[in-house]
Amino acid sequence: MVHADHIVKSYGTHEVLKDISVTVKRGEVACLIGPSGSGKSTFLRCINHLEAINGGRLSVDGDLIGYRQRGDKLYEMSPSEVSKQRADIGMVFQSFNLFPHMTVLENIIEAPTRVKGIKKADAVATAYELLERVGLAHKAKVYPAHLSGGQQQRIAIARALAMSPKLMLFDEPTSALDPELVGEVLDVMKGLAESGMTMIVVTHEIGFAREVGDSLFFMDGGVIVESGDPRDVLNNPKHQRTQSFLSKVL
Ligand code: ATP
Ligand code: MG
Repeated sequence: MVHADHIVKSYGTHEVLKDISVTVKRGEVACLIGPSGSGKSTFLRCINHLEAINGGRLSVDGDLIGYRQRGDKLYEMSPSEVSKQRADIGMVFQSFNLFPHMTVLENIIEAPTRVKGIKKADAVATAYELLERVGLAHKAKVYPAHLSGGQQQRIAIARALAMSPKLMLFDEPTSALDPELVGEVLDVMKGLAESGMTMIVVTHEIGFAREVGDSLFFMDGGVIVESGDPRDVLNNPKHQRTQSFLSKVL
């Protein structure tokens, strides 16, 4: 489903992603861990072309992301083509990023009605199903400011799902939450994983990676240092850098 082959990404002369290759099969959950500044967010942002890449290629569900190939050359897509691709890739950030001036329901139906042209009544019906799924149907008419961080993040997940994405990207979705609110968000993500969603999750929640992850990638300094079955990597890290990182977070 996701094929990242030898991705390189620089900001000016700073090469942030040096050579990242990651494959995620349909229905699998890949977890990405690593120290601050190792390039995790940058890599996620490359997957939906929020960042252009400087080398390698990225495809989701067989479609080259952000570029078209003619002969052996790649040409960057137009913004409207990129937004079409992006509509199929949901992203959830550390800061929930809900629209503050819209109710929960309005937040969820905004993109489906505006980007996908779905009829309002249908978008509303889907929104209520998704709210049911994240356990917040009773909050449909409320503004984000009146919700806890955990509730806002569950709404952000529902909002991303409203676009019927093929793939969901999570960038430290629980890092900004009070500890007692982390579980409710992880539970929603676990449910999503069990429903068969393909997911890439940047997280410091090692328990989640161990329990829900199909694969685990440890990234440091713009390279994947070590990857494999989460239980193997966590129980028996082979590289010194992985060991040292895990000793700090476990
Ligand atoms: P964290 O755990 O703190 O979120 P990360 O692994 O997500 O870290 P990135 O945010 O991907 O790391 O950043 C990787 C490197 O790229 C850092 O050195 C950062 O300063 C640099 N960087 C990120 N975004 C930009 C940008 N827009 N312009 C210039 N440099 C950037
Ligand atoms: Mg980050």
